[in-house]
Amino acid sequence: MTKPNDLVTPVDVVIVGAGIVGLAHAARAVDRGLTVAVIERDEHAVGASVRNFGHCCITGQSGELYDLAMNGRRHWLDYATKAGFTAAETGALVVARTDIEMQVLRELGRSREPGQITLLPSDDVVSHLQARGGQPDPRIIGGAFLRDDLRVDPRTTVHRLAAWLAGQGVTFHWKTSALGFADGAVHTSRGAVTGDHVIVCVGHDLDYLFPEAAADHRIQRCTLQMSRAMPEAGLDLTPAVLTGTSMLRYGAFASMPSADALQADADPLLQQIGANVMFTQQPDGSLLLGDSHSYQHTAAPFLAESIAERLNQEISALLGIELAVAERWQGVYASSDAGPLFVEEVQRGVTAVSVTSGVGMTVSFGLAERTLESMYPSELYLNQSVLVRNP
Ligand SMILES: Cc1cc2nc3c(=O)[nH]c(=O)nc-3n(C[C@H](O)[C@H](O)[C@H](O)COP(=O)(O)OP(=O)(O)OC[C@H]3O[C@@H](n4cnc5c(N)ncnc54)[C@H](O)[C@@H]3O)c2cc1C
Repeated sequence: MTKPNDLVTPVDVVIVGAGIVGLAHAARAVDRGLTVAVIERDEHAVGASVRNFGHCCITGQSGELYDLAMNGRRHWLDYATKAGFTAAETGALVVARTDIEMQVLRELGRSREPGQITLLPSDDVVSHLQARGGQPDPRIIGGAFLRDDLRVDPRTTVHRLAAWLAGQGVTFHWKTSALGFADGAVHTSRGAVTGDHVIVCVGHDLDYLFPEAAADHRIQRCTLQMSRAMPEAGLDLTPAVLTGTSMLRYGAFASMPSADALQADADPLLQQIGANVMFTQQPDGSLLLGDSHSYQHTAAPFLAESIAERLNQEISALLGIELAVAERWQGVYASSDAGPLFVEEVQRGVTAVSVTSGVGMTVSFGLAERTLESMYPSELYLNQSVLVRNP
């Protein structure tokens, strides 16, 4: 059997996991002029990074997550250009159907710099959601446009980013599982790979490699039901669309004074399934629809048809069109009530990085930059590599 170490010399950074978090770390490392190897157990990534909405929900974050999201925004746009994947400055649309929802939007708008959040009258919201022959929900009373959010394509991003990184000299070990770590070496199902720093980005599967650290951070698996539909009537929807249920799930909205009233006003059935009723339109015109949230240590594999139907009915009613579902799937991400991120040196020279709050697309590049900055400060590495690469 081929052993990776027979093929490669030791590298500066070994990364485990080729989802968005692992690849963002690889990208920021390569741009410091470092040598990088990525170990991925599958033939190509099929985890949370390809199963999500592709919404970089920057404006909806607060505190540390907001800073990471904002810092990562330019990297999303930069790597999209370099690697040829979609990251569009579409912004996001939040639909309000009650006075309390509108009040939360007003409060958040007042707390941000002018222009970042624009309150919209109902006509503007309806015209965004207008499909040919459709009749958007008559209960819409207004909404808000979130200028800084991005829309990306989750189905192509990690594949194109991996291909671009390979072209930059990153060594990929696909179909190779990391099994253990010792003295700078990652022991895999195909042999050892060594590096000065090891960064473990395995998302919700951290407990398989570091069960105690995962237990200390109370990491669980959050399972989500998603579907993809082709709108029957023509619909040209540029921004990601969020609703009142989304406001309960993102820190920026949830920390507003009227959020408690919003919670009290929420539909009990939607609350019961942990709904975040939202959708994005993908480059092929299809809509990614979701989602529900359920928390367990070991994820139950079954998809409840009643949940999928309820979510799709909500979105169908909002747009006022029929939605023909083409695919359904379950997504899983790491979740913790101990904090939104897990970043820890779990063993000497081995740092585990996991987003434990369901916003890994949004914060991945900002988080990667922060990790790499702590290991290889840019004044020493970034400038040097820029000089070497652009003499
Ligand atoms: C349905 C859904 C919707 C979401 N919507 C959004 C959204 O709109 N916006 C947003 O910001 N975030 C969203 N998220 C969250 C986001 O997708 C995740 O936070 C993010 O993708 C996590 O990235 P990751 O690289 O850590 O994990 P993953 O993408 O799961 O990648 C981890 C990789 O590690 C590999 N791996 C695991 N163990 C090993 C091992 N021992 N050896 C080698 N390889 C290993 C796996 O095969 C996998 O490829 C959503 C998540 C889901 C599930």
